[in-house]
Amino acid sequence: MVVGAAVVVMTAVVVGVADVVGADEGDDELHAAAITAVVIRITVINGRLLERDLMAVTLCEAFDVRIIRHHVGKRSDSCQDRAVETVKVTFVIEDAMPNRWVGPDVTPNLLELASTGGRCEAGGQAVMSSATYPNHASFVTGLQPTDHGVMVNRVWTGGEFVGSESIGPIGETIFEAARRAGMSTAALLGDHKLVGVTGAQVADVHWPPDGVRPDVELDEFQYAVNRAVIDAYDSHHPGPGAVDLTVVHFNDPDTACHLHGPDSAAARDRMRLTDADLGQLLERLRPEWDDTVVIVVSDHDQETVWGEGFDLAEEFRRKGLPGIVEPEGTCALIIDGPDTTTLMGLDGVDGAVVLDSSSTLVWGPEGQVFGLWFDFLHGAHGGPRCREQVAVVGGGHPVVAELADALNHRRPSAVDWAPTIADLCGFDLPGATGRSLLSGSSLSDRSVNRPAASPEG
Ligand SMILES: [Zn+2]
Repeated sequence: MVVGAAVVVMTAVVVGVADVVGADEGDDELHAAAITAVVIRITVINGRLLERDLMAVTLCEAFDVRIIRHHVGKRSDSCQDRAVETVKVTFVIEDAMPNRWVGPDVTPNLLELASTGGRCEAGGQAVMSSATYPNHASFVTGLQPTDHGVMVNRVWTGGEFVGSESIGPIGETIFEAARRAGMSTAALLGDHKLVGVTGAQVADVHWPPDGVRPDVELDEFQYAVNRAVIDAYDSHHPGPGAVDLTVVHFNDPDTACHLHGPDSAAARDRMRLTDADLGQLLERLRPEWDDTVVIVVSDHDQETVWGEGFDLAEEFRRKGLPGIVEPEGTCALIIDGPDTTTLMGLDGVDGAVVLDSSSTLVWGPEGQVFGLWFDFLHGAHGGPRCREQVAVVGGGHPVVAELADALNHRRPSAVDWAPTIADLCGFDLPGATGRSLLSGSSLSDRSVNRPAASPEG
């Protein structure tokens, strides 16, 4: 904060004192209205960060009366709620990090984080397909793929498949909802296409800018290495106390698992390095640790694969079957194709599920990928065998204990994190169909109009 801004704030506090003194001391509503007016005035003068972090606390402490958070749409019951109001959430995705490799040898920093909160040992559950972009779209919207429209990495527009990064998800994202509530967000994403996939362009800070591949060190698949993401945090993020919600994506485990196979020693080495990178990120959060909630997830697992890719489109042609095939690793999306009974009778198809009136997802036997494949690749994902996700919570904020307790009792779906984040930050995400890990807790009760739907992930 600059000194000039502090002076303006203190001037406004004095005006606020006059307003409050002028109100009937026995009338909480009048007090609330008076203070709300002050908060609005200060917001106009100084911006929402000063208003949130300084004024709400200062007024609460100074007057010990109720306040109304006009921009949040949520009412605090007392000064005891202050800790809830200052929660800062960092949501970290370690791409393709297998939950089965979480342990003291490979992920000591992740386990140390879990020791401050908790972990779902059985893991979270990806939406189908278990591909990167469908799950990230669910992470930010709290919606199933049939709702946000990203069922595999590319989206069928009715005439062709196009990259989901050029379309983004249908439905409100946590970035949009936070902005609507006057809260600040940041997104630092190792896979640059995730900027478009998650609609992170509306975040106050997003990197890489406009989702264009950055001029930094890149991995074998031309995604930014984890180190570059941390450098971006250092150069672009205004600091852990200044942003309400930060999303960080580390891509390295996914590339390593594709190249070497998820259970190879080489992939585990890269997972260890990613864990060290997580440790670096956590160090940056220490100054605000008491206000911090950290959530670490992976978007999907991988399985070891071998052989050539199975050409399902050719199989359709050979048998004269209708439908357009979009291979997605160990699964394939079929548009306007045969019924599931016919599909299950085909070579290379072990399972099928209807997603909507025109879309069906199929998967094959263990180790089989669909479509064009390279024999130097040893890991893939997309089908139901790769749905297990990492699910860890930690941090210094008292609400972490509630999250950890929830993870002891239920496996979170990818769609549950967005409503959980909304509850933590105190903004509303009314369209989300996932279920907050805080549903039923006192914190969630104070949020507004949360639907309680609980779809299968
Ligand atoms: Zn992924």
